[in-house]
Amino acid sequence: MALINESYLKLQAGYLFPEIGRRVSEFIAANPDKKVIKMGIGDVTQPLVPSVVKAFHEGVDEMAKGETFKGYGPEQGYAFLREAIAKNSYQDNGVNVSADEIFISDGSKCDTGNIQEIFGNENKIAICDPVYPVYADTTVMSGKTGSCQTNGYYEGIIYMPCTSENGFIPELPTETPDLIFLCYPNNPTGTVASKEELKKWVDYATENNAIILYDAAYEAFITEDGVPHSIYEIEGAKKVAIEFRSFSKTAGFTGTRCAFTVVPNELLAFGKDGKEYPVKPLWNRRQSTKFNGVSYPVQKAAAAIYTEEGKKEVADVIAYYLENAGIMKASLAEAGYEVFGGVNAPYIWVKTKNGMTSWDFFDKVLNEANVVGTPGSGFGPSGEGYFRFSAFADRDSVLEAMERIKNLN
Ligand SMILES: *Cc1c(COP(=O)(O)O)cnc(C)c1O
Repeated sequence: MALINESYLKLQAGYLFPEIGRRVSEFIAANPDKKVIKMGIGDVTQPLVPSVVKAFHEGVDEMAKGETFKGYGPEQGYAFLREAIAKNSYQDNGVNVSADEIFISDGSKCDTGNIQEIFGNENKIAICDPVYPVYADTTVMSGKTGSCQTNGYYEGIIYMPCTSENGFIPELPTETPDLIFLCYPNNPTGTVASKEELKKWVDYATENNAIILYDAAYEAFITEDGVPHSIYEIEGAKKVAIEFRSFSKTAGFTGTRCAFTVVPNELLAFGKDGKEYPVKPLWNRRQSTKFNGVSYPVQKAAAAIYTEEGKKEVADVIAYYLENAGIMKASLAEAGYEVFGGVNAPYIWVKTKNGMTSWDFFDKVLNEANVVGTPGSGFGPSGEGYFRFSAFADRDSVLEAMERIKNLN
């Protein structure tokens, strides 16, 4: 008799985006003449930059000729890409990460989800609330939790509320976790963690023999000086942290698929025998067994963002999104909203007025301004009363959407 993985039955239905879709379709059906502007989904809108497209084409052409054709590549990724990442994303910024610590993959969603496989099921997981839903859902799938409670929390996960009261940086938890997911710049709040704040977490992980799983998918959006781009800027972090980065938001690769994970040589975790084991060989083994690498043309396209031209072109696209964010932030503040994020991230996190719920605000913005955003409560219970606007849109839509929201009563 084939038995299912019962943990999947504990998962709450993927409610957020289907429910948004349902309400938007209903509105459009009832109001076919209204132009709805979508600022809800966290997906990029601008095309791949010319350097990336050129390298992509060259990669395909190489695959088309006998002399340059490539079959399976290294499971860890091609050396040319790992070396370009080590140099440009780390060493040039004074951070000591070497190519042999970098694993290329087809996405940070996959890596942040798969990483738990190399850690024991007895580990306690700490997760921010609100946050990117993948961390909690994959923790449930791995069998580490009980069921979802009425407050929206899964039994067995340590939740760390992030609200305006604590500046969206969680307090150190009272119950000690073994694995700690942190995401900065943050999705959905758009906020960042300072060096001092990250140091507090690195020290905490060191003292408690815990490991930080650091999702830096929005690193490229950091504009302010002094905001850490990598957790490895913090002393001692290489002993206690894995870092995830992605080309998805950095260079518009959401549909092209390429990301990487850094597992430092000095990162150790414990066996039941009390001995310490290096973590990197486990991830290497996991990837070598279950993954066959990212396609050669895609890796070649990704490496192009580190050329002089590529760097400039990618920076221009990010600047465009951040200009959108700046416009949105200013307009929403002018309209009397308390706003967060949007400076080092493509998301604006808005507090609703007069304690309105996230979904009531969603309906009001949809019905009266014909603009779609994302209800904060969809990212976790502590997101209630907040709303996320994404700056991944074209300028005209941003300007029109903000004009309409300013005129809301
Ligand atoms: C978009 C996003 C990612 C990137 O996922 P990919 O699979 O690389 O496209 C990772 N983490 C967060 C928080 C994100 O918002």
